[in-house]
Amino acid sequence: MSKCTFKGGVHPYEGKELSMDKPIVELMPEGDMVYPLSQHIGAPAVPVVAKGDHVLAGQLIAEAGGFVSANIHASVSGTVKAIEPRTLATGGKCNSIVIENDGKYEEVEYVAKKFEDLSRDEIRDRIKAAGIVGMGGAGFPTNVKLTPKNPDEIDYIIVNGCECEPYITSDYRRLLQESDNVVMGLKIALSLFDHAKGIIAIEDNKPEAIKLLREKTENEDNIEVKVMKTKYPQGGERSLIYAATGRSINSSMLPADAGCIVHNVDTIFSIYLAVIEGKPLTKRIVTVTGDGVKNPGNFYVFLGMNYRQLLEAAGGPDGEPEKFISGGPMMGFAMYSLDVPVVKGSSSLLVFKEDIVSKIESSACIRCGRCGAGCPSHLLPAKLAKLASKKDEEGFTKFDGMECVECGSCSYVCPAKRPLTQQIKAMRRTIMANRRKK
Ligand code: SF4
Ligand code: SF4
Repeated sequence: MSKCTFKGGVHPYEGKELSMDKPIVELMPEGDMVYPLSQHIGAPAVPVVAKGDHVLAGQLIAEAGGFVSANIHASVSGTVKAIEPRTLATGGKCNSIVIENDGKYEEVEYVAKKFEDLSRDEIRDRIKAAGIVGMGGAGFPTNVKLTPKNPDEIDYIIVNGCECEPYITSDYRRLLQESDNVVMGLKIALSLFDHAKGIIAIEDNKPEAIKLLREKTENEDNIEVKVMKTKYPQGGERSLIYAATGRSINSSMLPADAGCIVHNVDTIFSIYLAVIEGKPLTKRIVTVTGDGVKNPGNFYVFLGMNYRQLLEAAGGPDGEPEKFISGGPMMGFAMYSLDVPVVKGSSSLLVFKEDIVSKIESSACIRCGRCGAGCPSHLLPAKLAKLASKKDEEGFTKFDGMECVECGSCSYVCPAKRPLTQQIKAMRRTIMANRRKK
């Protein structure tokens, strides 16, 4: 079986065995539901409800605040209790709609359609109305992605089934348990373009998913399942596009500039739900796993639900965990409170008994070159980190520091445990902020 790959990358411990065989379990939420108005890239959504309003599950509660923005819907029925700043998983605060869940789960009436009966504009309208955004964490509004300025030049729509971050298995379970609807979501997206072919990209550590998706697409002439070599960050947009199509993009290009559009598995499933069943994005799959949780698993979760409930659903903590991470261990972020809501980009809650990272002490660089060899962007991370520590913006830019995708591979492989990614990331933030000021 030939495998697609890219140059660079690393092989962290996968940890997927903890939850990959655990079927998705639906969780019924308890207590207040919190819907931050910014759970996507772009302008915050604007509330269309007020304190005291009664809402139904699936009802629009905040509408897109601009072209690059997304609608937000209630995932339960209940009463709007407040619109106020609430803490997010990142630790920041965001104005949020708080709904007191009445426990009845009364829903709006959804209007199902056959996608063959819909025009391209109607399909895009249904995707936009449903508030779908990239659910791999990036949060880019899906209807915007599906409306590129060069529709005639889109050659590939790639479903990112790599799930290259260790531990996370939510996309894998979606591929296994909802394969027909994932394929349908891709067919809908393909119908928006004249020449596009579909690629479902899956890493070779998921042979069952590869086999199943191949069976489901054997009669689809314009969809191919491509096997990717298991390597981090294979699912990163640039690595994936290169591995799947041989095309390259850089920081000043969009995937569409290389004729590609990439969608996460849950995003493509949400396209199916929105276009065929008329349902907005109100739920997602979240993996709860790690050695600090008793029963790791994959859960179908109502957006707005509290992370603490996720931990309880997975049997609660095993001992006294020191580390909680939202997202993967490579690119996710440490959580300091579990009293925060699940949002559209929440793919996982990782719980670890020990906080190894915080205890690491770095030593001097031994110039081994491993950070450069592992960098998927072919950069010199040690050099960039040094320039960052000197606050040398010009040198950092000259050595292509802005091409860093913040994947964490350099820090991971560094035997001296240098905080390379953190330093490079901080410098990138400073340069971006300075550019905005100009
Ligand atoms: S320099 Fe950036 S892109 Fe390269 S390995 Fe480090 S974090 Fe990843
Ligand atoms: S991997 Fe670490 S020790 Fe090796 S060259 Fe890079 S920074 Fe230096």
